[in-house]
Amino acid sequence: MSKFWSPFVKELVPYVPGEQPKIANLVKLNTNENPYGPSPKAIAAMQAELGDSLRLYPDPNSDRLKQAVAEHYGVTTAQVFVGNGSDEVLAHIFHGLFQHGRPLLFPDVTYSFYPVYCGLYGIPFEALPLDEQFQIRVEDYARPNAGIIFPNPNAPTGCLLALEAVERLLQGSPDSVVVVDEAYIDFGGQSAIALVDRYPNLLVTQTLSKSRSLAGLRVGLAVGHPDLIEALERIKNSFNSYPLDRMAIAGAAVAFEDKPYFEETCRKVIDSREWVVSELAKRGFEVLPSAANFVFARHPDKDAAGIAAGLREKGVIVRHFKQARIAQFLRITIGTPEQNQALLDALDAG
Ligand SMILES: *Cc1c(COP(=O)(O)O)cnc(C)c1O
Repeated sequence: MSKFWSPFVKELVPYVPGEQPKIANLVKLNTNENPYGPSPKAIAAMQAELGDSLRLYPDPNSDRLKQAVAEHYGVTTAQVFVGNGSDEVLAHIFHGLFQHGRPLLFPDVTYSFYPVYCGLYGIPFEALPLDEQFQIRVEDYARPNAGIIFPNPNAPTGCLLALEAVERLLQGSPDSVVVVDEAYIDFGGQSAIALVDRYPNLLVTQTLSKSRSLAGLRVGLAVGHPDLIEALERIKNSFNSYPLDRMAIAGAAVAFEDKPYFEETCRKVIDSREWVVSELAKRGFEVLPSAANFVFARHPDKDAAGIAAGLREKGVIVRHFKQARIAQFLRITIGTPEQNQALLDALDAG
């Protein structure tokens, strides 16, 4: 706190990201990074950008990347927005599309950045409770709102809302923007991008941080009606015209084009997830059904914070949230088979 802070800064409640420890040899299963590296072709494309051309500004519109995304999803480039991580894309969405006086709606257990953006942009919100199985109750969202946002699969539960239910939710709020945050969709869900041509109020966000293994590059995107995309472009061009650097544009574009590598690494993560789920179940854990690259699990008689502390002593870090409703759960990222085995060994060592 300082006398130089504005009242606005004093009131902010910032997001707390998962720890990025500076310790070597940790089994890091706390921030849902991909255990496999990025596409080797994407790395080569980034290396090719590292040179004299860096003296020049990048393409402010990231056309090369928009083209790759549009081709991948069968949409037009006018339906694609790209930004410096999907967190930045989400920030522009909150700023530009949710400020309509009424409350924004999202689940009570969800990505903890949403209430932070509400604080930053002064947006009232209502957190609607998930049901006892930690599923979204679509009927609850059919009420006046300034917008709706939820991750699908949800975070940190990993639970997937079927595309048919996403569509019912859209039909219940035709006059506000519905954002489906698909950070984890490639690990087992069907993307709502299939619906953007029929619902002008639908915006789907994705990130290259999870399924494309480029968390360090900071690239995210949104797909929706050109009018919604134009709103985001107006905000972006009033804030930072060059959110993506030359390496990010080249690497992200090639990551979309290298489908075989993408499909192979997603498949490996999904197979490992199914194995981890069954191994945790054998050890008495209750694991929510996950369509993501992490699982959300609790043990009927062991305290979650205690398990997390015990794992940490053995060099394995997982994520524990203090929020009352989920305080007995651990969110565990799926790692390589060796990392997953290390997790189970650490649990068995008690
Ligand atoms: C990881 C994550 C993001 C942020 O992704 P970045 O592109 O790395 O900023 C957004 N939403 C959810 C639900 C996430 O889990």
